[in-house]
Amino acid sequence: MKKGKLLIIGFGPGSFEHMTERARQAIQESDVIVGYNTYVDIIRHLLTEQEIVRTGMTEEVSRAQEAVRLAESGKKVAVISSGDAGVYGMAGLVYEVLAEKGWRPDTGVEVEVIPGISAINSCASLLGAPVMHDACTISLSDHLTPWETIALRIEAAAQADFVIALYNPRSGRRTRQIVETQKILLKYRSPDTPVGLVKSAYRERQHVVLTTLEKMLQHEIGMLTTVIIGNSSTFVYEGLMITPRGYQRKYTLDRVEQDLKPHERLKTEAEPWSLNALEQAREKPKDQSESTTVSRTETDTHPAALAEEALAVLQAQGVIQTSGQAGETFKKPVSIFEVAVSPGVANKKFSPEQLLLIAEVAGEKGEIEYTPHHQLILRVPTDDPNPMVEQLTASGLLLSPIGDVVQVKACDFCDGDKGEGIPYAEELHRRLEGMAVPKELKVGFNGCAMACYGAVTEDIGIVYRRGTFDLFMGGKKIGRNAHPAQRVAEGLSPEQLIEAVEKVVKAYVQQAQPNERFHKFFKRVKEVAGFRYQEEVKPVVPELACGDS
Ligand code: SAH
Repeated sequence: MKKGKLLIIGFGPGSFEHMTERARQAIQESDVIVGYNTYVDIIRHLLTEQEIVRTGMTEEVSRAQEAVRLAESGKKVAVISSGDAGVYGMAGLVYEVLAEKGWRPDTGVEVEVIPGISAINSCASLLGAPVMHDACTISLSDHLTPWETIALRIEAAAQADFVIALYNPRSGRRTRQIVETQKILLKYRSPDTPVGLVKSAYRERQHVVLTTLEKMLQHEIGMLTTVIIGNSSTFVYEGLMITPRGYQRKYTLDRVEQDLKPHERLKTEAEPWSLNALEQAREKPKDQSESTTVSRTETDTHPAALAEEALAVLQAQGVIQTSGQAGETFKKPVSIFEVAVSPGVANKKFSPEQLLLIAEVAGEKGEIEYTPHHQLILRVPTDDPNPMVEQLTASGLLLSPIGDVVQVKACDFCDGDKGEGIPYAEELHRRLEGMAVPKELKVGFNGCAMACYGAVTEDIGIVYRRGTFDLFMGGKKIGRNAHPAQRVAEGLSPEQLIEAVEKVVKAYVQQAQPNERFHKFFKRVKEVAGFRYQEEVKPVVPELACGDS
């Protein structure tokens, strides 16, 4: 006798275009369709001569049994589920029925499970990109699963900051489950956590609502709705719900987020929450007296013990904030605020009070780096840098954003003895400092022809000389092919100088390619704001004697 086949098909959210090619073929090549009434209606236009076994919603087991019986009688049987058949669908149930009958893949009827787009994916696409990061699905249907188990899963997922897609959130008879769910979620997540409600995705009555955890119950939620709960980083932008790729977040003055440079990525310092960082912290605690290192014995290598230990290290480092009871609430990693600090444009001297203040705001968890660019870089884990910024500014310190911005690097004007240039350096600082540019841009400003602070080797160099200024452009300070900047103008008046530098920077912002350094830009475009590039003299390459290669 001809052996039958079971085609277990997920037909996606409901629209023809979102069904896979294989799902369409499988429906068309089958002799019998077994499915819930509404689903048969959705795929009706694909049917030709197939026999249809329609059943109601609650008869899933008899549907699966009937499908197996028909396949065993030699028919090709399509069992259809919406979304993916393996996600709260018919796939598992059919296998359960087969297993009960002692089915074997080699001797029994053939089975093919055809994947489909599940509601978590189709609904997410309509909301923006809410899933993106670790996510889970939880069905609120307690017909076959004890509510206590469901509640525990909600609790665990909420605690671990998963994005959560709630399937079967509410029906005519099951109305309290979603209310209880909200209560549990609110223990761990902020009331304004973004929540997306998608009803009938990619079907005729599609309806999308963007709301919050606090307000979600004010909207219609039914049998055909999937509820997507954001994690602690999910945000709303232009009506879209978006979950970022991770928690990594470094930021500087007036810019919320700062991209890590390529060479900084994947480094342990940039990922204080990584397992490597935790291990390093364990190996060399900053302060022995507050050491969180635990000597390892054989008994405390249990995963739970390790997890608790890791949590303690993170808390001690300030990487995560402790609020409420330990272990109860998900601790969102704190972002790292990064800012350049200097005593002034011309002033190079920190007062002892200022240094003490810098140390104080850095605290135990902060970092103070001394750079070759006349500034200290301060990195402090905090989500609210305002008090710190106010304190530092009030003590007379100059704060600048770091990254791909303009930095005006003046000399100390011989401790003020040759101070005539200072007002112009300050004016340029006021106009340009911190301005976003394609690549970091240093503007060197020196108050006399000695130019001992090296202005003529910077991207843009300015040297004050007897009431006028010389302008230099395109220096490259480091590397094998380091070279000074070219002298492009002499004897500029203060007004001419300020105007010229502003024009040059503006041209760089508008015309440079992304990440193009100023000296490369100048060389490429040959003329910037009227200043011409002069071809370099090529280095001499001695002729090699024959055979001397
Ligand atoms: N196998 C299906 C899930 C079946 S459970 C899948 O993978 O998508 C039924 C639940 O799925 C519904 O209560 C609803 O929460 C969700 N669902 C299924 N199709 C949907 C759609 N088109 N739009 C929104 N939610 C949907």
